[in-house]
Amino acid sequence: MVIVPVGEKYPGARIGPMYLRLLTVTLALLLLLPGCARQDSLQHIQSSGKLTVVTRNSPTTYYQDKEGATGYEYALAGLLAEELGVELKIKTAFNLDEIFQQLQRGEADVAAAGLTLTGQREARYPHSAPYYQLTPQVVYVAGTYRPRRVGDLVDMSIVVLAGSSHAESLHALREGGMSGLEWREIPGADSMELLELVDSGEAQLAIIDSNEFSVQQSLYPRLKVAFDLGSQQDMVWYLAPDADNRRLQARIDQFIERLRADGTLESLREEYFGHTAGVSRISSHTFTRNMRRALPPYRDLIREVAEEYQMDWHLLAAIAYQESHWNPEAASPTGVRGMMMLTLPTAREMGVANRLDPGQSLRGGARYFKNIKRRLPKDIYEPDRTWLALAAYNIGMGHLEDARVMTERQGGDPHLWRDVMERLPLLQKIKYYQNTRYGYARGVEAANYVQNIRHYYSILEWQDIPDTKPLPPMRAGDYLPRVVKKLDLRAL
Ligand code: GLU
Repeated sequence: MVIVPVGEKYPGARIGPMYLRLLTVTLALLLLLPGCARQDSLQHIQSSGKLTVVTRNSPTTYYQDKEGATGYEYALAGLLAEELGVELKIKTAFNLDEIFQQLQRGEADVAAAGLTLTGQREARYPHSAPYYQLTPQVVYVAGTYRPRRVGDLVDMSIVVLAGSSHAESLHALREGGMSGLEWREIPGADSMELLELVDSGEAQLAIIDSNEFSVQQSLYPRLKVAFDLGSQQDMVWYLAPDADNRRLQARIDQFIERLRADGTLESLREEYFGHTAGVSRISSHTFTRNMRRALPPYRDLIREVAEEYQMDWHLLAAIAYQESHWNPEAASPTGVRGMMMLTLPTAREMGVANRLDPGQSLRGGARYFKNIKRRLPKDIYEPDRTWLALAAYNIGMGHLEDARVMTERQGGDPHLWRDVMERLPLLQKIKYYQNTRYGYARGVEAANYVQNIRHYYSILEWQDIPDTKPLPPMRAGDYLPRVVKKLDLRAL
């Protein structure tokens, strides 16, 4: 923009040339600024063809599983990118402050990281409509002193994530008169770290979101909720402060509304936060009942497929039971389907056209399993080879490799399922997964997955005898997550 030296053109003007010049420059700047600095972010996303989202690597937000990236926020952000017809680019931050710094620097369009709507954040960042409700919870070790209300928190050692909504609440309480309130702010992006401190006795209490606690709780059976800190809060996405976000914000709000109305929000909630009790809910009784009722119609088919793939049919049957309870129409909200619960990409890769066809599903699963088994290092021998392949089938080759590397580092034998199984749960602990190649993974689930299949497998083998023979005696809860119970994670 060329600034015309107006003062010289209008020598007789009552306002002196200097003032005129200043006025013109100011006006020009005012006109220019909104145009260049405050770009319309929706337009920018659409013209660049990508939506950049900053999040954190944690079980409630974003992590890698056997199919690649997953997590509640990742799923939501992916749906938005799809709707906008652009590519999703994920950036991760290692602590909560960094998430906001990335927004501030304009390095991301949206922060989607399990972030609570707070007064301070609201004053600084535009945000979306709420898409999830959570309650902050005070967590303690059962059997120790249990605080029951805010007043009881004084003189207790409390940990929260640095820069978190909970730190903000504690500041507000202290400013509101609770002068004896003290706490430590732990840098990091995963509240698991806090549970670790409480479980090991380094802190008495942690304050974390209800959804995060429910996902992590299975790893810390001694930890309980002391009380809810305040009422329900909203989880929102934050937007970059230095952009014109009005259209993007409206678009996101519309998107959230649609997901709420068509049930997607609820399905995702169930998928990512409601699964925790999954494995332990399977009881011996259910298995034996299903073996009598649901297996017979598929027994021959399973045998036939197993033979084609030179597998023990009991093993294939055990995997299919673990996946779907032998239900050919099983489905999960994330789009996994059929007797072997194949994802669409895996099904395609394995040449499965119809995942609901039990024969195709079994063939796809068997083939996928064999592929994985073949890819394992040659010097892993049976039966460990089968168990390790099953773990990879569940959690992905990359994460299994991480667990094997960790096993070796800790002096275990990475060729043995027993040794690797003990390390799998560590993939859920930030202290360990931050030094791995593929990061967080649901290791407990993978360990239980394999243990369950082994158990079903042995019962099926046992039962492959005339129907007149009685079932072996079993107690309910026989194969509940023994892995978790047996392991003392703190000792590792
Ligand atoms: N929701 C929290 C926040 O917005 C982060 C998770 C937690 O600290 O439990 O800061």
